[in-house]
Amino acid sequence: MAWFKKARKPIAVSKSKSSRVPEGLWVKCSGCAQAIYNKDLAANVNVCPKCGHHFRMNAAERLRLLFDDQTWTEYDKDLVSTDPLQFHDTKPYRTRLEASVEATGLKDAIIIASGRIEGIETMVGSMEYGFIGGSMGVVVGEKITRAIERAIERRCPVVVVCCSGGARMMEGALSLMQMAKISGALARLDRARLPYISVLTDPTTGGVTASYAMLGDLNIAEPKALIGFAGPRVIEQTIRQKLPEGFQRSEFLLDKGMIDLIVDRREMKSVIARALRFMGAAADIPAPAAFDRSSVAEPAPQL
Ligand SMILES: [Zn+2]
Repeated sequence: MAWFKKARKPIAVSKSKSSRVPEGLWVKCSGCAQAIYNKDLAANVNVCPKCGHHFRMNAAERLRLLFDDQTWTEYDKDLVSTDPLQFHDTKPYRTRLEASVEATGLKDAIIIASGRIEGIETMVGSMEYGFIGGSMGVVVGEKITRAIERAIERRCPVVVVCCSGGARMMEGALSLMQMAKISGALARLDRARLPYISVLTDPTTGGVTASYAMLGDLNIAEPKALIGFAGPRVIEQTIRQKLPEGFQRSEFLLDKGMIDLIVDRREMKSVIARALRFMGAAADIPAPAAFDRSSVAEPAPQL
């Protein structure tokens, strides 16, 4: 027999009384652990106003950030995966596809669009992490390849914003083939002497890093983004060594010469436009007045 016995029932918690704080108004920053008002975050292009932590953005928000007047023309919107391997893991691949279409409103993990960046007509691919981890399958590969071919036809530069967990395992070797296909198209773009800028955001890993993410004439990363091929845990277990501090983050990769620049998201558009101009792209319409640097008188050099 037990020495102590709970004579009374524990205090019942009434479930009917709901919290008076509305949900979804505040988010906790994973950089500085402070609460940020959602609207402040949105107004600051999803960058924490307190510590500069870059939150993830979806594909459409990214396009809004890059294009003048937030307008663009979308291409190959209706390309869908046919589930060529009839793949099943814990769930059928088809079910996963349907759920992602429902959640994101997209048919696959990338939006291809053309528009102007400070007046420069550009073909942009923007990856959507919310669609099966932004994984690259047949559709992503085909859409990027077509985008590059379209850019060659129109003689305009290409920018791809990467945000991906890598190749899509549910399409097996077919997704791996996209790496070669896109790389081939990028080689043709190069021969046509047109610029390609790769923007690496958190996270860019696997087959995407191993192909188009690292093939830019300029590879630009956002601060503290996870960029790598295999994950740190896998590497640690394979080589049986402790990995250095900050391994696979943008700053580490910049230090080792793997990427060219780290750019704050709030300056991303103007840096891309400046780089494109440097690489010979010309605006076919004058840039908006706010960005027109030619009107600023240069101070006379002092001797
Ligand atoms: Zn913060």
